[in-house]
Amino acid sequence: MRTSGLIGGMSWESTAEYYRILNQGVRNRLGPTASARCVLWSFNFAEIEDLQHRGDWDGLTTRMVDAAQRLEACGAELLLICTNTMHRMAPAVEAALRVPLLHIANPTAERIKAAGFRKVGLLGTAFTMEHAFYRGRLAERHSLDVLVPNPDDRAVIHRIIYAELVSGTVLPASREAYRAIMARLVEDGAEAIILGCTEIMLLVQAADSPVPLFDTTALHAEAAIEMALAG
Ligand code: GLU
Repeated sequence: MRTSGLIGGMSWESTAEYYRILNQGVRNRLGPTASARCVLWSFNFAEIEDLQHRGDWDGLTTRMVDAAQRLEACGAELLLICTNTMHRMAPAVEAALRVPLLHIANPTAERIKAAGFRKVGLLGTAFTMEHAFYRGRLAERHSLDVLVPNPDDRAVIHRIIYAELVSGTVLPASREAYRAIMARLVEDGAEAIILGCTEIMLLVQAADSPVPLFDTTALHAEAAIEMALAG
């Protein structure tokens, strides 16, 4: 088994899910006492969030490259960035590594295409929904047609992530807000919806959406298991 390196803590609520999925997946594949060989770098998310909202992407890139190199030095043989938003720095992280970086958008897009969908709704932070690094990759590399919520709905999605989900707060009213936003995306033609923020799976499940949901947390962690156990 290859050692997985996790850049996490963004937030730790979702990193804990990654850890659980990785270990359960290895147990299912290799037997009851087997568990994932992994190393974790866990940021103080308060610092990260502050830099994000100040738009200090250079400062964030420095921190991400530093974390990736520390994990590689600790023996990581493949790397995961356990958040969609921080994939904005994926090219710089990849360039600084000798080991492969498993990009979160790739297993997600592959699964969507395998299910036969092309027009997908995207929920995530404002950075993920609005900046080119994520939508652009889905469109250019995977030929997906990406729909994002309207500006008011994007603000609601973003606020709930940062004010509630990253600190483990799961409120029924917020679930209702997400359900309404997903229904509007479906009215606009979305055939499926990407949970493009690793905490959204804490709030919504398949039953909350009229179309299939593609949860990036589970898809990313499951792809890491495949990669760690491959030959
Ligand atoms: N975990 C979230 C994501 O997948 C948001 C937190 C962050 O900004 O990294 O985008």
